[in-house]
Amino acid sequence: MSFETLGLSAELLRAIREQGYTEPTPVQAKAIPVILAGKDVLAGAQTGTGKTAGFTLPMLQRLSKNMQHSGKRPVRALVLTPTRELAAQVGESVVNYGRHLPLRSAVIFGGVKINPQITKLRNGVDILVATPGRLLDHVGQRTVDLSKVEVLVLDEADRMLDMGFINDIKKLLALMPKNGARQNLLFSATFSSEIKQLAGQLLNNPEHLEMPRGNTSADRIEQVVYPVDKARKRELLSHMIGKGNWRQVLVFTRTKHLANRLTDQLQKDGLSAAAIHGNKSQGARTRALADFKSGGVRVLVATDIAARGLDIDQLPHVVNFELPNVAEDYVHRIGRTGRAGNDGEAVSLVCVDEHQLLQDIERLTKQQIRKVTLEGYEPDPSIRAEPIQNGGGNRGRSQSRNRGGSQRQGKPAARRNAPRANSGSNPGSRTWQPRSGRGNSRAA
Ligand code: AMP
Repeated sequence: MSFETLGLSAELLRAIREQGYTEPTPVQAKAIPVILAGKDVLAGAQTGTGKTAGFTLPMLQRLSKNMQHSGKRPVRALVLTPTRELAAQVGESVVNYGRHLPLRSAVIFGGVKINPQITKLRNGVDILVATPGRLLDHVGQRTVDLSKVEVLVLDEADRMLDMGFINDIKKLLALMPKNGARQNLLFSATFSSEIKQLAGQLLNNPEHLEMPRGNTSADRIEQVVYPVDKARKRELLSHMIGKGNWRQVLVFTRTKHLANRLTDQLQKDGLSAAAIHGNKSQGARTRALADFKSGGVRVLVATDIAARGLDIDQLPHVVNFELPNVAEDYVHRIGRTGRAGNDGEAVSLVCVDEHQLLQDIERLTKQQIRKVTLEGYEPDPSIRAEPIQNGGGNRGRSQSRNRGGSQRQGKPAARRNAPRANSGSNPGSRTWQPRSGRGNSRAA
């Protein structure tokens, strides 16, 4: 299967070639022709599957067909995402894939100044990528008009509902052309009754697209648990990074406080580290992510806000410095590795307090994760388990809306798996190639 057979225009094929993609991912192969045909779509696709190009490419093609070159350019396509980071990434994809088309796009999210966004909107934008909160702020200030939206994409819809965005989404829908006059694309990793209800209201006779089975991260990412005492986790982490000569590692903690503390300690150990979590300003988050992506920062310490949606190419190592309180988050976290065709390793440092959390994860993922006790780091058997401290938990629907402040975080979505892709031998070409489970993660 090649991109040429999917009915995409020469401009888009050129942009795809420039990205180094040689063939469509399964979700792209399925979604592109259906979206080009103007149909509504309900797609069960996670981040890591290439879903962004799956909806962006046909959307760009449809919009470019009947361009309005003069006069005020209304927003014709709206992509809603749950997090700022995902909005930024989708925005980047729109720019990359649309680089040979005369379409204009903008990304809008909270935590940054609103005025530059207003100026951009005033100048005319064809494609708007936004988080719901800030978009509603623009609606309130009458700086955006959604009455001409032809294509609506809800990306990571389950996550948006989990974060309590349903009312915001309904308010926004009321401002768009009636259903039927608009193409609707809903992407979700899971299908709770709430998602089905939303899909029922939003979609017209949708095409259901499901990813082929066998793409679960649990099957595809090498996972290891290292039992270790809580007080020695930091030492073990520094040891692993140094000994393994890990150039890039994403480390998860349960709390913002620990993310900060661990970052400081790693810096004292001589490792370049940065923290990313909801208490950081948007500027600091963007900078930390950019530094990590560019290789300037070796260790990015994150709370679960970074677990979803982030697309960091070729991230080889994810470490659960602490297991998440909610087993589903484990799947999201480890899905940050092994993307777009690269091998990934997910390491969990597990102390005696976390045995129940580990059991929950193993039950959810239906596997026994390999356990390796490292010489010199054997847990002290005399240490008794203590209750887990959540340190001002940063999740939950109850969290109030915080426009202009830190990104809200929500209750976790149900299980989601991030499939893997496989790189070709040519480093310049990126071939998405699902593999069957290696089974190494299943070894007890
Ligand atoms: P997404 O699921 O949209 O977040 O994409 C995951 C990653 O796969 C991104 O880094 C994309 O650049 C990459 N990607 C998307 N489509 C392809 C493709 N056809 N071939 C290789 N890589 C791809």
